[in-house]
Amino acid sequence: MKVGADPLRDLERVCLAREAIGEEAELFVDANGAYERKQALKLAHAFAEHAGVSWFEEPVSSDDLEGLALLRERVPAPMQVAAGEYGYDSFYFRRMLEAGAVDVLQADVTRCGGITELLNIGSLCAAHSIPLSAHTSPAIHAHACAAIVPLVHVEYFHDHARIEGLLFDGVLQPVHGALRPDEDRPGLGLTLREADAAPYER
Ligand SMILES: [Mg+2]
Repeated sequence: MKVGADPLRDLERVCLAREAIGEEAELFVDANGAYERKQALKLAHAFAEHAGVSWFEEPVSSDDLEGLALLRERVPAPMQVAAGEYGYDSFYFRRMLEAGAVDVLQADVTRCGGITELLNIGSLCAAHSIPLSAHTSPAIHAHACAAIVPLVHVEYFHDHARIEGLLFDGVLQPVHGALRPDEDRPGLGLTLREADAAPYER
């Protein structure tokens, strides 16, 4: 869930989300860099203690590698600090890994130089013993991510999954939380339904 828009209400919101999903599901929060360092640290402890939050994405700006590293060192285990969704090339990701800024690196194949560069980033993660998590657009990530050894998850962002299904045939549906490429369909397995897309044409 998103946090950071109203920091004074975030703990209450996160606790309500925990109440709604029960004890079994993991609860991840994403601040999109909205907090200051010490504010993020204080909230990390509160989120962990009161709502069992296990993932803190961009607690501070993803350009603040020192701040991310500080948070990563000091948030309570097993909470993981993640960032990387804005990266455009493997040098960006190398800097983030070398700074020790994240427990889990994120990358987005639609931004990071495509499938070839995503695979390079996967290798960088393997060399640093850091897992990789794919950022949104599950239909575009699933096939490439099947070839990335340190992959931990593909973000199943509701809006993206909804829009993919509106416009394309061949969109993969998660089964018990997993996406499995259809080996009978070439490429990414997607076919644009032009008639359904036409109303959105400009
Ligand atoms: Mg994010």
